[in-house]
Amino acid sequence: MHHLDPDRLVLLALSDEPGLDESDHLDGCAACRHDLAALRDVAGIGAELQDLRDLPAPPEHVWSAIESEIAGPARRRRPRRLVPAMAAAVAAVVAVAGAVAFFRAPAEQVVARATLTPLATVPAGAGGSVRVLADGQMRIEVRNLPLTTGFHEVWLIDPDDLTRMVALGNLGDRPDEVLPVPAGVDMNRYSLVDVSDEPHDGDATHSGRSLLRGTLTS
Ligand SMILES: [Zn+2]
Repeated sequence: MHHLDPDRLVLLALSDEPGLDESDHLDGCAACRHDLAALRDVAGIGAELQDLRDLPAPPEHVWSAIESEIAGPARRRRPRRLVPAMAAAVAAVVAVAGAVAFFRAPAEQVVARATLTPLATVPAGAGGSVRVLADGQMRIEVRNLPLTTGFHEVWLIDPDDLTRMVALGNLGDRPDEVLPVPAGVDMNRYSLVDVSDEPHDGDATHSGRSLLRGTLTS
């Protein structure tokens, strides 16, 4: 009986679904099942590490070592001692995937979020959601806001003193908007997100007509 290839086990541990033949083999082969379980443990640890977002890319010589271990003559007769090397390969792949994801999309790291619900004077179908990203941008999505002859404005308010607030910007016609949170705004203090209906009256202060509100949580 041929065992599953080590590199195939690595892929199965990371994400791939086993094929029918592979499933049959795994059902009947305790050795491969054991190896796959061990590799999945490592992959699970790696996946958790990804959340830390501070994973360094492995140096080139680590890749070379992994490749030679996997592609080497040990492939046909897989000794038990190869499993640590395969586990290292899985951990390295997961780490690299995490690092790549981090460098490609750093802005997608959400540091706070809120669900916006309508105030009593607003139709119940109105609502929205807010995500504050690590780069200081706020992504806000709204739905079913009442029509306005003015415009909709987004605020951060101190829930302990509702007169203290920061204007973030206006919502356009699109259902979603990205607004920069001004540097230095403490979102632990200004944790109440407010969407208001503002008239075109030249007055930059809050109109007092809040439509949606939600509290930021990390
Ligand atoms: Zn096997």
